[in-house]
Amino acid sequence: MEGSQTCFFHPTVVAAAACDACGKPVCHVCRRSLNALSFCEACAANRHEQCPLAATVFALLVPGLGQVYNAEYRKGLWVFLTGWLVLPWIWGIVDARRVAGEIQAGRRPGAGVWPGYIVLAIKLGVIGLSLTYGFIVWGIVATLGMLASLISGTG
Ligand SMILES: [Zn+2]
Ligand SMILES: [Zn+2]
Repeated sequence: MEGSQTCFFHPTVVAAAACDACGKPVCHVCRRSLNALSFCEACAANRHEQCPLAATVFALLVPGLGQVYNAEYRKGLWVFLTGWLVLPWIWGIVDARRVAGEIQAGRRPGAGVWPGYIVLAIKLGVIGLSLTYGFIVWGIVATLGMLASLISGTG
């Protein structure tokens, strides 16, 4: 056999790509494409393809969560802290969607993105996180309102 590599799993089939994680040659059937990279099935199993829709929903429900999903933690923290001002929240939604799309298309490195089981955990917990965020904001607004009425009440 001259130079042409065969699939690691199917020794009679010519390889279509090499796994980007372990380097095993894989055929069209075995190849898994995630974030514009090729993986073998074993390496693809604990990786996650970045999804712009998931990023948008996360960013919509909890300010900054879309950035955390994209593994941009510092940006996420800023959006989380300023999200109650509404404008940073909206910016965070647009940004999360754009960045997730770029990771999915392979224009940004997806090395830092979460493995699939963590993303599943975030999906399951996102409503709770959203309620927690709303509760914190409501608490701050209610406290400020109470203080304002106390001040005006004594005058
Ligand atoms: Zn592999
Ligand atoms: Zn194969």
